[in-house]
Amino acid sequence: MLNIVIFGAPGSGKGTQSERLIREFGLDHISTGDVLRKEIKEGSALGKTASEYIDKGQLLPDELIAEVLAKVLDEKEGSNGVIFDGFPRTIPQAIALKKILNKRATDVTVLINLHVAEEELIKRLLERGRISGRSDDNLDTIKSRLDVYHKQTLPLADYYIEEGKHVLIAGEGTVDEIFDRIKKALAELNN
Ligand code: ADP
Repeated sequence: MLNIVIFGAPGSGKGTQSERLIREFGLDHISTGDVLRKEIKEGSALGKTASEYIDKGQLLPDELIAEVLAKVLDEKEGSNGVIFDGFPRTIPQAIALKKILNKRATDVTVLINLHVAEEELIKRLLERGRISGRSDDNLDTIKSRLDVYHKQTLPLADYYIEEGKHVLIAGEGTVDEIFDRIKKALAELNN
């Protein structure tokens, strides 16, 4: 299985590049943000809990989100591989993911780290908020999310560097240019 963690700050283009990867490699996609937004829309108990965290720009508790992830992953049985988008976001989540995948006789193949300058991230997120009306794409929440990213999520890069699975990609330019960089990096992995 080709299991890819797509990693980067909010607004770094994880969702956009995931769509391209899915088409190119026939992978399944799990976006924890999308899963939670669906639960919120449906008004489920999980959705109610999730919106309390999301609207403050905070992360859901690790154990809760890991449970959600394992459940969604089981719905993708028989897959060629999965793109994990928005999970893991903390070191405990990375450890949980390893356990979840090892139990299913597989593991993370590679983490793709999309790097984008902070100014550009804020610009993209404000624009997305204007178009999509996503409740967390407003300046106050964006600032908390970037802060959470730096404190809780960025240290994950070191975890995957140590595992020898970290690939850094410049995340600015056109969608095609960035995707080409990703494809090249993946091709080099196989050499
Ligand atoms: P973005 O990458 O633009 O911040 P996502 O759609 O991935 O957005 O996630 C939106 C929100 O959902 C996060 O700010 C967080 O509150 C919650 N969330 C998503 N994934 C996780 C996770 N792995 N752990 C904890 N909270 C999460």
